[in-house]
Amino acid sequence: MAPSLVLTGARVVLPGGVVDDGRVSVEGTRITATAAESARTVDLTGHWVLPGFVDIHNHGGGGASFSGTAEDILQAVHTHRTHGTTTLVASTVTDETDLLATQAGLLSELAEQGEIAGIHFEGPFISPCRKGAHSEELLRDPDPAEVRKLIDAARGKAKMVTLATELPGGVDSVRLLAEHGVIAAIGHTDATYEQTVEAIDAGATVATHLFNAMPPVGHRSPGPIAALLEDERVTVELINDGTHLHPAALELAFHHAGASRVAFITDAMDAAGAGDGRYLLGPLEVEVSEGVARLVHGGSIAGSTLTLDRAFRRAVTIDRLSVEDAVTALSVTPARLLGLSDRIGSLEPGKDADLVVFDADFVLKGVMRRGEWVVVPPQLA
Ligand SMILES: [Zn+2]
Repeated sequence: MAPSLVLTGARVVLPGGVVDDGRVSVEGTRITATAAESARTVDLTGHWVLPGFVDIHNHGGGGASFSGTAEDILQAVHTHRTHGTTTLVASTVTDETDLLATQAGLLSELAEQGEIAGIHFEGPFISPCRKGAHSEELLRDPDPAEVRKLIDAARGKAKMVTLATELPGGVDSVRLLAEHGVIAAIGHTDATYEQTVEAIDAGATVATHLFNAMPPVGHRSPGPIAALLEDERVTVELINDGTHLHPAALELAFHHAGASRVAFITDAMDAAGAGDGRYLLGPLEVEVSEGVARLVHGGSIAGSTLTLDRAFRRAVTIDRLSVEDAVTALSVTPARLLGLSDRIGSLEPGKDADLVVFDADFVLKGVMRRGEWVVVPPQLA
């Protein structure tokens, strides 16, 4: 059992706002209202303490992917944990249904063990016009029976399926997912504004990396982006790495949707936390150069090498978001989407002791997950 701790002196982001010289007490795996008498005090003056980050769209990191072995999966999970992601949904990429079903079985075991929070299937039910880094020959129309097969293979651990809802079977698949409590996410789509509204009305609630892999806004054809931004029922994912989005596009999304409807994601691939070089994204070869991942053939951006600590630093330094809005998009909103707000997403008594410590320059200095330090702050080392 981890010892009791009281973190003092830091600026703490609580549900009601930022508290200067705040206190966070931890007992075992949980945050508590008051500290035990035996608790060790850690002075974090000049630092920030924030709830642990939640990533709902992530393909890998540390040189390993969620399409790999159990060892690979743990490697990727651990890499992202050391960058502040205390809750992570593992994303697959387009492949044969049987292979995806087998991988879902493996991922569901790691979800049972509490290593990941569930599975996100990205593809194969996406548009060939907006395929990004997915194998075109493996793409197919959304067939509710096939969607059902995947969520069954995930044994209750399927959290989200990204699909191009304008394709034949798309809207029926959205209904099926909604009935099963799985998030239907609109993405890699060529839908019109009207088709997008239809999918939202059928139960789709997430925009997969808004702006990327979908038609841009036109004044006579506003397309999916306008429909996804204007509807209160939709949460939009954003990849805040400086490559996928112009800062003004990010600002537009925050202006229209507000932080409570934005989830920052990494969409990371193997190279996140690992460095430049050649990698595989599913069956496709990717070259990572200066942190930007592109397909060897065609040059499409192929996921990111982002980690959420960098997304946070960028949000508050370059994008000029408030720390509170950044935390909402990194922790609060994705925790709510996953239906885990009773356990994670904010620093409140009774919740899991998942938290991150940043210094005044927004450099990550500590990560605690369920009461255990993953990254030990220098004050404790
Ligand atoms: Zn992705």
